[in-house]
Amino acid sequence: MSGTKVLIAGASIAGPALAHWLDRWGAEVTVVERSPVLRPGGQAVDARGVTREVVRRMGLDGAVRAACTFAAGAHTVDADGNVLETFSVEDDGGDGFISEIEILRGDLSRVLYDDTRDRVEYVFGDRIAEITQDADGVDVTLAGGSRRRFDLVIGADGLHSALRAAAFGPRERFVRHLGHVLAFYTVPNEFGLDQWMLEYQEAGRSAGLRPIRDASLAVAMFSFPAVDFDVDYRDIEAQKQLLRERMDGFGWLTPRILAHIDDTPDFYLDQVAQVVMDRWSSGRVGLLGDAACSSSPMSGQGTGIALVGAYLLAGELASAGWDPATGFDAYERKMRPYVEANQEIARLHARSRDVTAHGPGPDFESEWFAELLERAINGVRLPDYADLADAGSTDATEAVAP
Ligand SMILES: Cc1cc2nc3c(=O)[nH]c(=O)nc-3n(C[C@H](O)[C@H](O)[C@H](O)COP(=O)(O)OP(=O)(O)OC[C@H]3O[C@@H](n4cnc5c(N)ncnc54)[C@H](O)[C@@H]3O)c2cc1C
Repeated sequence: MSGTKVLIAGASIAGPALAHWLDRWGAEVTVVERSPVLRPGGQAVDARGVTREVVRRMGLDGAVRAACTFAAGAHTVDADGNVLETFSVEDDGGDGFISEIEILRGDLSRVLYDDTRDRVEYVFGDRIAEITQDADGVDVTLAGGSRRRFDLVIGADGLHSALRAAAFGPRERFVRHLGHVLAFYTVPNEFGLDQWMLEYQEAGRSAGLRPIRDASLAVAMFSFPAVDFDVDYRDIEAQKQLLRERMDGFGWLTPRILAHIDDTPDFYLDQVAQVVMDRWSSGRVGLLGDAACSSSPMSGQGTGIALVGAYLLAGELASAGWDPATGFDAYERKMRPYVEANQEIARLHARSRDVTAHGPGPDFESEWFAELLERAINGVRLPDYADLADAGSTDATEAVAP
């Protein structure tokens, strides 16, 4: 059935990537985004292993590489700025701590949006207020007042997904706080930062600076432990206050970086949390990316999971002739082991930063960790959906790898 109508909530990474593939396989796609504009900001995200292959199949390798940060690697430093350790982009064949394809989250979102905006309907500044599904479709009322019917509705609306809450239950049931908070924002590069990221760590807290394409700017990064987290994720002023309090007295360049907290054009702070669910679909409603299975920034793979998940979800739904039960089931079976490996890595990283933990920390040099890492980067098969191209609205021949 071509012309299947799909509504996606969220236009960050997972949403536009899914829109790309659904459109290619012949669906009519609408994306509703709560923010009035495409959201800028966030720190650099990496494309490793299978994710790179998905980007290539999307035909976006060139656009993504053109928008990359060009970081050379990272140095950890002491309080006086002396280099302690160095990680290069060339480590582990480009799939290391700083990967070969590293792009600011906002820039990747822009590439994905630009790629789909002419073929997909985007509705900014609105959100789903009400959904009711029956055997044949889903009735949706948007907060702006419009009412429409879709065949499928997909939540790509992130860690705090409202669609997940509406269709599956309250967030407390699925969101697991890993005991840390991360913050990122843009600052002027008054620190002489070149192509190397800098990070200073002390007793579970860290501060860092990341170079970006525009050499006059840098992205500040902070992390601190927090047993609980009750700051509203939409209340930026409260988040800034929390960051000031928790990084008070921290060494290195921290006071100078914090001095820019009120003149930054963007600010992102959130708990390091995972989403763990038994199922990512209910009838005609499905979840993707952080909304379904956030692995948290501590995995370094949230973007990969969103891009790979978008490829598989669209491919499996289209392969199933848009039958939700069959399509959602196949997508979930293929994705789960890959997601679980990434969630496990994030939990280990969170534990290694926990200064109150007893016993030895995880051994990141061990063979079992290397094996886990391999599953987290490459542990998912990407079927060749080339035959679906006949139904698609764009020519998919160049997109599907041999
Ligand atoms: C502004 C921003 C900055 C980020 N910075 C970082 C970072 O520095 N490091 C990191 O590891 N991860 C960051 N993330 C998260 C990262 O993008 C994701 O982990 C990953 O890329 C998976 O993306 P996603 O599309 O599933 O979810 P997200 O990137 O979280 O996107 C969810 C989207 O849904 C929108 N939305 C939310 N509620 C609704 C609603 N009710 N209706 C419609 N739309 C809704 C949001 O505005 C957002 O655009 C950031 C996300 C955002 C939105």
